[in-house]
Amino acid sequence: MEGSYRSPRALERSGQTLIGILVVLVIMMVGYSIFLGPRKNDKGEVKSAPKAAMDKSTDLECSTYLGQVRQAISMYGGGTDENERPASLADLGTSMQSVTKCPVGGEDYVYDSQTGKVHCPHPGHEEF
Ligand SMILES: [Zn+2]
Repeated sequence: MEGSYRSPRALERSGQTLIGILVVLVIMMVGYSIFLGPRKNDKGEVKSAPKAAMDKSTDLECSTYLGQVRQAISMYGGGTDENERPASLADLGTSMQSVTKCPVGGEDYVYDSQTGKVHCPHPGHEEF
């Protein structure tokens, strides 16, 4: 059994390697729980950090869409008459149809032709 004999030194070295691997694993787990683990947001919902970041970026997309729609409404009819508004968001033209829905929930934006105001009905997007 000479082939399987390992010197005390080699055993010690493999022990150190094992401890090294364990230390790395612990560091990774701590890092995961800090940066990627589930956490509560300001609404008390528990979600992982990547999910929360994704939601935030699609929220941003929604407010960008709304900004484009509002700009299109303000420029409707040449932008010379402030009271000239489209009767509906469909009147903004086919090029705007892709930005008249919430990118998160897919709900159509709510448009009031009387006031010219447009907002997103998706929960949490009312303030955009
Ligand atoms: Zn939205």
